[in-house]
Amino acid sequence: MQKIRVRAHAKINLYLDVVGKREDGYHNLETIFHSIGLHDDVIICKQRTKDIKVHCEHPSVPCDSRNLAHQAAKLLNDAVGGIGGIAIEIHKRIPVAAGLGGGSANAAAVLHGVNEVFRLGFTQEALMRFGAQLGADVPFCLRGGAALGLGIGDQLTHLRVLSDLPLLLLNPGIEISTAAVFKKLDFSLTKRENAGIIIGTLMEKDDILGVAERLYNLLEVPVFAEYPEIAALKTELSTQAGCRGALMSGSGATLFAVMQDSTLAHRSESHFKNRVSFCTTTVTSPVGVYIED
Ligand code: ATP
Repeated sequence: MQKIRVRAHAKINLYLDVVGKREDGYHNLETIFHSIGLHDDVIICKQRTKDIKVHCEHPSVPCDSRNLAHQAAKLLNDAVGGIGGIAIEIHKRIPVAAGLGGGSANAAAVLHGVNEVFRLGFTQEALMRFGAQLGADVPFCLRGGAALGLGIGDQLTHLRVLSDLPLLLLNPGIEISTAAVFKKLDFSLTKRENAGIIIGTLMEKDDILGVAERLYNLLEVPVFAEYPEIAALKTELSTQAGCRGALMSGSGATLFAVMQDSTLAHRSESHFKNRVSFCTTTVTSPVGVYIED
């Protein structure tokens, strides 16, 4: 096999609370991730040369060693003492710096794809450990589906997947730095005992209405304070026909709505389409990375 095409699925956070600051500067989180259908395509080819090359047309995505996909390939290359040249092509659909884990999903796709193409034989657990060195969301993106994430988001407990739940995603086109959002956090707000566990239990019972009622993201507070237009967009999204609950994903600025059905999701999509930089209807996904035939 010379070439492999891997789907790198985005994630949303159905719940995100920050439960403390760590000595290493990171924050301890309690979060619930879910993979979604929206994905980038990552094509991995063996090369005759020895170097790692990344190509991505998106103007905000670096193609050098700052790219998480590049870092993922280098990590595996170094771990086995050199595997030869790798060319990686990324077709972006996931908005960048949008709270949807696009870079992490690309890194996960490269770990999974390179392991297959070069027959390295790493287990999923080993790949997840490599992933944790690249970013807090990478282990989840590798595993996919639904999970409760503790620690920096990398200690994962599997949860029952919500199947084919219709979602509407809106991005107002504001790229938000995750680090800047965490800096502005007010810790006095974070006291929500067991709220994440409760949502996890509702997911196990497939209680969509219960989950939609309890969507929560502490990071909305600093982001909405700085960008009231995102808060206003969330209010408008929440009042759309068929919207069961709306939330900002990760550190934003993407908002998602859990919709009653895909017809109403598409109707709301038409309502917002020409006013935001990105708007799409999708569904929850049971996988994070997927090798296409
Ligand atoms: P995070 O919460 O990690 O910031 P995000 O989903 O909000 O994740 P990403 O789309 O991963 O944001 O982009 C964050 C930054 O990472 C961007 O500024 C971008 O330049 C950089 N980056 C590095 N590699 C990639 C990649 N493969 N795809 C997208 N962005 C990348």
